[in-house]
Amino acid sequence: MSKGNINVSVENIFPLIKKFLYSDHEIFLRELISNATDATLKLKHLTNIGEAKVEYGNPQIEVKIDKDKKQLHIIDQGLGMTKEEVEKYINQIAFSGAEEFLEKYKDEKADDTNIIGHFGLGFYSAFMVAKKVEIITKSFKDQPAAHWTCDGSPQYDLTEGEKTDHGTEIILHIADDSTEFLEDSKISELLNKYNKFMPIPIKFGTKEATIPLPEDADKDAKPETKTIDNIINNTNPAWTKQPADLKDDDYKSFYRELYPMQFEEPLFHIHLNVDYPFNLTGILYFPRIGQDMNMQKDRIQLYQDQVFVTDNVEGIVPEFLTMLRGVIDSPDIPLNVSRSYLQADGAVKKISSYITRKVADKLKSLFKNNREDFEKKWKDIKIIIEYGMLSEEKFFEKAQDFALYPTVDDTHYTFEELKEKIKANQTDKDDKLVILYASNLDEQHTYIQAAKDKGYEVLLLDSPIVSHLIQKLETEKENITFVRVDGDHIDNLIKKEETKISKLSEEEKETLKTTLDAIVPKEKFTVQLEDMDSNANPFIITQPEFMRRMKEMQQSGGGGGMFGMSNMPEMYNLVINTNHELIGQILNTKTQKKKERLVNQALDLAKLSQNLLKGEDLTAFIKRSYEIIK
Ligand code: ADP
Ligand code: MG
Repeated sequence: MSKGNINVSVENIFPLIKKFLYSDHEIFLRELISNATDATLKLKHLTNIGEAKVEYGNPQIEVKIDKDKKQLHIIDQGLGMTKEEVEKYINQIAFSGAEEFLEKYKDEKADDTNIIGHFGLGFYSAFMVAKKVEIITKSFKDQPAAHWTCDGSPQYDLTEGEKTDHGTEIILHIADDSTEFLEDSKISELLNKYNKFMPIPIKFGTKEATIPLPEDADKDAKPETKTIDNIINNTNPAWTKQPADLKDDDYKSFYRELYPMQFEEPLFHIHLNVDYPFNLTGILYFPRIGQDMNMQKDRIQLYQDQVFVTDNVEGIVPEFLTMLRGVIDSPDIPLNVSRSYLQADGAVKKISSYITRKVADKLKSLFKNNREDFEKKWKDIKIIIEYGMLSEEKFFEKAQDFALYPTVDDTHYTFEELKEKIKANQTDKDDKLVILYASNLDEQHTYIQAAKDKGYEVLLLDSPIVSHLIQKLETEKENITFVRVDGDHIDNLIKKEETKISKLSEEEKETLKTTLDAIVPKEKFTVQLEDMDSNANPFIITQPEFMRRMKEMQQSGGGGGMFGMSNMPEMYNLVINTNHELIGQILNTKTQKKKERLVNQALDLAKLSQNLLKGEDLTAFIKRSYEIIK
């Protein structure tokens, strides 16, 4: 029997490990199973190239709980270690790795420990939950087994062991403060979280299975059950396969495997597969998102060689795509570094732009191959696309091919198509194309109707980030301007060459102006007379596009505020259609009281159509209306 000292200079490493990685104790199991998997795959390789002369068979990894002895066992049938190898790999290499790791990260900020905890400690993470660890291992080489024992102090024992088959058994004597890891349910949960897609079958207990009856079985025969190994993982998850070998249904069933609690089907998937200049595979899914930007419970999962790492892909996937679901697997993402470093990493940047490109290509091909279907899905995916157009320049460019602009009548145009359509309709002299849009079908109904009556296209742009997108489009595209249908009355929005006839004389207009100014509250409305079509409403309330947009952008937390308008008062235009019959009537009304009643009633109706009539004013309006119809 040999005794040894691991390394005096780091006497305190075990308490340190425990404390340092406190939040992430559970990763020990993933680390040990990763080692078991590595050992099994290495043996397979050696067998393949003829360097190991053993039956490879169908090796498994077994996880076993011995509750009475308070032990957790991880057993593999991999290449094992000789006594010398235990000395070297466990005592020297693994330990120096752990020491180096702690040296490097002990000063890091606490919020980075999560990701650091994911990788780097390997075998020694066992001491986060065990007061004593044993390794019983036999190499595939013709040498006796080895038995290593260490209780967390720097001393260890290394003796000859009794094991006869090649492979390794790790025995954890679970510490008193970690007994949760002796519960079936806890271990199940961890296996399911970290090891669900690992490449070697992992056995955890047994389960009952019914054996299907043979075809010619008696019709009274009952199917028998038998006890079989409970294998917790799918060793061949869809993302490791070639896209050509997968059907649409395979992608859908993999989605359910990933998110068993998710009942809605994804809209479509994107299979990622690169091996140069970095290695990355994965499948991303577009879920139905609609207007909801904050659904974040089922997230993209990041794996490294089929081992789960995290479902926080921030920094790796461009932000606008973090709303997608699915899996990314890459050994090339450096994870033992902090988030801020990660974002600056060249390889990670390449990965992020590759993903952006693949997503854009997929969207383009969906649009090209089946536009009708793409249009149907638009409302469910537009938030992601619009957000991407705002935040990633490259994506904005690519999106020109497939970004859609739906009208209030559900026609979908690309930007180019929209421009053509509008050009045909407008004869504005300075050539600036005015794109009319509505953000709410119900609230802006009157205005939409007025525009449609004049034969204009009105877009329906109703995502929460639309004012930012519009701003962006106006900057990027030449000679266009967006105006909401209620930004002004329609004849002012789009100037057509037509001679305007006025029913009122200049004198009458003067009188009208004075009358209105005396009644309409000045601090809220700027009165403005216009000679419009006699069919257009007599009173129209509008809010200048510029002012409304500033306010919206302030509310959604961008721009605006810089202009010192945080306390901008609510100001509206009150446009009076001088050609409407009612105006003549107002002028001809004799008593001031009656005049006031008419003006207020008309003003309230205009407010009502802008959804501005509330509270006290609404009550007064209703009362007055009853008076009138009495
Ligand atoms: P890493 O896996 O990153 O190399 P670890 O600390 O997890 O670091 O493991 C250290 C070394 O111990 C491994 O590289 C391997 O040589 C050896 N080892 C650990 N577990 C096993 C095992 N189950 N079978 C064979 N060798 C193992
Ligand atoms: Mg390891």
